[in-house]
Amino acid sequence: MIQIKNAHELAAMRRACAISAAALRLAGESIEAGMTTADLDKILFDYIKGKGARPNFKGLYGFPGTACISINDEVIHGIPSHKRQIRPGDIVSIDTGAAIDGFNGDNACTFGCGKIDLEAQRLLDVTRESLHRGIAAAVCGNRVGDISHAVQSYVEQNGFSVVRSFVGHGVGRELHEDPEVPNFGTAGRGPRLVGGMTLAIEPMVNQKHHSVITLPDGWTVKTADGGLSAHFEHTVAILPAGPEILTLGWEEPTCSL
Ligand code: MG
Repeated sequence: MIQIKNAHELAAMRRACAISAAALRLAGESIEAGMTTADLDKILFDYIKGKGARPNFKGLYGFPGTACISINDEVIHGIPSHKRQIRPGDIVSIDTGAAIDGFNGDNACTFGCGKIDLEAQRLLDVTRESLHRGIAAAVCGNRVGDISHAVQSYVEQNGFSVVRSFVGHGVGRELHEDPEVPNFGTAGRGPRLVGGMTLAIEPMVNQKHHSVITLPDGWTVKTADGGLSAHFEHTVAILPAGPEILTLGWEEPTCSL
């Protein structure tokens, strides 16, 4: 069932999302060659706890980290590890969130470590733009399929592919709520968008084929063909005046993308 948030609940969502976004931005600004994904995870954990919030990924379905940190051909759900060093030229997808006052924020961004190659940069640019195309379609009266179609068509026009096996979602009192928000689909289909919905819109875009595999650790999802993958996500409120990006903080001008 899709939960509609009232003004009081939306205010709590804004607080949770502001902390989530500031954490993500801090993580992006902290990336340096030689650090491990566990180092990054600790920065996020300390920041979120320091804000009096709860790292809402930690323990969810048994996930051990504050963030999913996925490098290069890893798509999502990478487990932070002291053994995994970030190298120059890597692209690092960080997906994290915070909960406060009973509500959740969720956001993700793929950052480059130092100078990345042109095709990797184009993948990041296209994925980020596809997120914003999806958000632009997240208006009252549209349907979820309008978001899906906006994301997919932009990605495919640019020669990349959208992951099918994982999708965006509603977010609120729970990190994962109804409805599912696929990054592929048909305009005009799916649940109607109404004011007070809050959605995590999160294109996962592969450089080559869209198929993915899960590693034996049971979590890490990577591209089946070894191509690169990028992931950008905002939590968005559907409002009568238009979509409000609740996690905009990580994208402010000084964000090192
Ligand atoms: Mg999400």
